[in-house]
Amino acid sequence: MPESSNGHGCGHNMLGSASLLAATAVKDWLATSGLDGRVRYYGCPAEEGGSGKGFMVRAGAFDDVDVAICWHPSAFTGVNRPFSLACVEIDFLFHGRASHAAGAPHLGRSALDAVELMNVGVNYMREHMASTARIHYALIDSGGIAPNVVQSKAVVRYLIRAQTLGEMWTLVERVKKIAEGAAMMTETKVASKQLSGDANLVGNAPLEEAMFANMMRLGPPRFDAADKAFAVEIQKTLRREDVVAAYGRFGLEVKEGEALSEDIYPLGSGVETSVGSTDVGTVSWVVPTVQCRVACYAIGTPGHSWQLVAQGLAGAAHKGLAYAAKVMAGTAIGVFQDADLLARAKAAHHAFRAENPFVNPIADDLAPPLDMAAH
Ligand SMILES: [Zn+2]
Repeated sequence: MPESSNGHGCGHNMLGSASLLAATAVKDWLATSGLDGRVRYYGCPAEEGGSGKGFMVRAGAFDDVDVAICWHPSAFTGVNRPFSLACVEIDFLFHGRASHAAGAPHLGRSALDAVELMNVGVNYMREHMASTARIHYALIDSGGIAPNVVQSKAVVRYLIRAQTLGEMWTLVERVKKIAEGAAMMTETKVASKQLSGDANLVGNAPLEEAMFANMMRLGPPRFDAADKAFAVEIQKTLRREDVVAAYGRFGLEVKEGEALSEDIYPLGSGVETSVGSTDVGTVSWVVPTVQCRVACYAIGTPGHSWQLVAQGLAGAAHKGLAYAAKVMAGTAIGVFQDADLLARAKAAHHAFRAENPFVNPIADDLAPPLDMAAH
């Protein structure tokens, strides 16, 4: 919207613009260099929650691609450890029987009770799953707003994440058992419907080294006094523990008085916990894939917070995305110039795939969740 001055809770408003800038630069370079090659820009819809790229992979959109290059905004700049959790989003729909909650409670069977019992069951399961796995839920339909009605219908949406697809599907089966148990206890019926799903990220060491070398050649991103002053104001709204945790996620020491990072953190930084999921993961199983993270906002800004949204169109975000475009373009040009790099990237990918079979979590018959509010 032209009048909007905000961004997105994870900085995704910057993803496409930086990639378009990079793709355009590479296209211009290809035209002048005379080298034979093609750069393709992918507009990827529904990347958050909708697994847009997973559906594109299923449709074969990446079948003729040698290398995929992307980025993500961050508080820090670098090529971090390629790690994300496989995830799947599933709606559990409970059906019971409506009745007057006071006049005939014994005739009703509450779908909302079933949802509550399911959540309790899953919360008890947490102790008995890998500490790296994650399960979250949101109440999509509580059945209504009238407490004097026994709710005949209720829907809870589950997001189940684990380090591998295999581990994730095992957890899904356990969660489904709990849902069935909750239905049995409440004499309701339950059905489940998968909405989306992403594979975990597969790294590619040759491409990561090449991207990191481009970063080092460029030097770290630089921000001006106004960018830093704004970041300081944002940090005043954060807690100290937000800032400390931000450094901790990348295995870095806290730098006092630093609101915007102007460093490049070492190749492979980042801890293998406290990470989310990305639909880039699914792409990385079918194409050698590399991505960088670039400082675009104040250190300590929580994901999915108003502070991140508020910094989405700020000066630092703009400088960060332009920097990301240069790193991505430089990496792509490096692949065009260095046949050996491409060969090594492909060899690494093939070696991994030979040992790790892949099934896209977007099954052949899964329809894209065009309306995430529908159920
Ligand atoms: Zn994100």
